[in-house]
Amino acid sequence: MEITILGTSSAIPIPGRNLSGTVLKYENEHILFDCGEGTQFSIRKLQLHPSKIKTICITHLHGDHAFGLPGLISGINYSNKSDYLTIIGPQGIKELLDVSQKHQQFFADFPIEIRELEFMESPGVVYESAYYSISAVSLNHRIPAFGYRFDEHTRSGKLDVDLAEKLGVQKGPLFRELKEGRSVLSESGKLISPSDVLAEPKPSKSFCYITDTRYCSRSIALAKGCDLMMHEATYLHELKAKADETGHSTALEAAMIAKEAGVKKLVLFHYSARYPNLNPLYREAISVFPATQMGNDLETLRIE
Ligand SMILES: [Zn+2]
Ligand SMILES: [Zn+2]
Repeated sequence: MEITILGTSSAIPIPGRNLSGTVLKYENEHILFDCGEGTQFSIRKLQLHPSKIKTICITHLHGDHAFGLPGLISGINYSNKSDYLTIIGPQGIKELLDVSQKHQQFFADFPIEIRELEFMESPGVVYESAYYSISAVSLNHRIPAFGYRFDEHTRSGKLDVDLAEKLGVQKGPLFRELKEGRSVLSESGKLISPSDVLAEPKPSKSFCYITDTRYCSRSIALAKGCDLMMHEATYLHELKAKADETGHSTALEAAMIAKEAGVKKLVLFHYSARYPNLNPLYREAISVFPATQMGNDLETLRIE
């Protein structure tokens, strides 16, 4: 599973740092988290296929997270290949796109489902496919904002085909039964259970995306035990008063969330333009949570 960061700047883009947007590549599908201005350009620069984006999760409607949405939808339409798109975000996102479609005269030739979220005190599933689910929870920002979590469904282990045949299971539908967790009868009438022929289930992978927010206990519930959490770190803790005022987190607070949630890895992003050098933010975070990495634009992270 790969996660590509498209932008790490807060509020305004600066050279080398674009606005928020992160692509999760899962199998043959892309899930986009946030769509700040310039997101489409980064997607094309990296030669990702816009038409592979099937789900877009928008944290909140501030421009640095959503100004790129109409342009991206229009761009997906140009690619002429998309068959559907689901957009998840706070209330108002439908109206925003309706107004944009009406006055900017762009239309999608494929169905778009928009799911508007209401306040969520605890994490709940907002999207489910055959292979994964996406949960959300409300954050603590100046306007309604949501954090998201991707969870892969547990995948069954590989079927030992040779062993299954040796035990007298006929190739074909019975293999499928075993893979789906049901016992079958061998040719000699012996009961073969899935555990006889399947390897250990593969651990499912998880990813969490949290921005923009003050330190928020709901974030801890959302990120509990996940493999990789991206969390905003707009300021150093010496500017905590500014973080309070603007509804953002300090690097120290992001690290505290990571520690309390027991995540495996923390990746910071959404930096204030006042920090051309990110080392102080990094040092602050690793003092609390050593498994921290500073996110960079156009960087790809892997969850093995
Ligand atoms: Zn922001
Ligand atoms: Zn914001």
